[in-house]
Amino acid sequence: MKFEVLTIFPEVIECYLKHGVVGRALNKGIAEVKVYNLRDFTTDRHRKVDDYPYGGGAGMVMQIEPFYNALRHIKSDGIPRKVILLSPQGRRFSQRIAKEFYKEEKTLTLICGRYEGIDERIKAFVDEEISIGDYVLSGGELAALVIIDSVVRLIPGALGDELSAEEDSFMKGFLDYPHYTRPEEFEGMRVPDILLSGDHKKIALWRKKEALRNTLKNRPDLLKNLSAEDMKILKELC
Ligand code: SAM
Repeated sequence: MKFEVLTIFPEVIECYLKHGVVGRALNKGIAEVKVYNLRDFTTDRHRKVDDYPYGGGAGMVMQIEPFYNALRHIKSDGIPRKVILLSPQGRRFSQRIAKEFYKEEKTLTLICGRYEGIDERIKAFVDEEISIGDYVLSGGELAALVIIDSVVRLIPGALGDELSAEEDSFMKGFLDYPHYTRPEEFEGMRVPDILLSGDHKKIALWRKKEALRNTLKNRPDLLKNLSAEDMKILKELC
């Protein structure tokens, strides 16, 4: 899977991409990220990307020309891609959308705004607006990284143990179960005995119960469309 990022801060993206799951996936060649510096697509000698807003008001607005030039350059290879404008006004990103992008797209082009945002006419050149949540960030770079990271995790081979993405929160419609590692006891808090029992059937059932308990406590809105078996466990917890 390929990602293209259009930003005035390429180094912010590049730094993150060196590390962890995403860094390994890029090294293995199962994902690719190309970062474009928007300033390389300006035509004035100051490499200016913003200007004052028409109608007045605070802040600067990103101009459309550098984005247009960059998109024309990127699209000149003719390959199909989904162009995404990162914006707090977009469709709210979720694990479901991460899966959708992984399954349906081969190349995602992520456009990062700054300042008060980008000239509205950018919307004529994008396929979709995506928000990573109901808050306002100073730029789209974190949002681009959120999308890249969550989609890359879904690519087979990206994680050490391929099953671990399947066990993550939201993948099965509820939150993850609690995890423990050494030491067995810390500040009087013991690892639950069941996890030391070696009884894999009982451990699986305990994990399911705890996952449902977590979800009931923090995200009861997720508890829809449960199987009859999960519904039975949930009723016991209530
Ligand atoms: N004036 C804009 C508004 O209120 O809708 C906010 C602009 S924000 C300061 C600058 C840039 O950060 C945006 O163009 C967008 O690319 C990015 N951004 C901010 N919050 C975001 C969010 N929740 N999701 C995705 N991108 C976001």
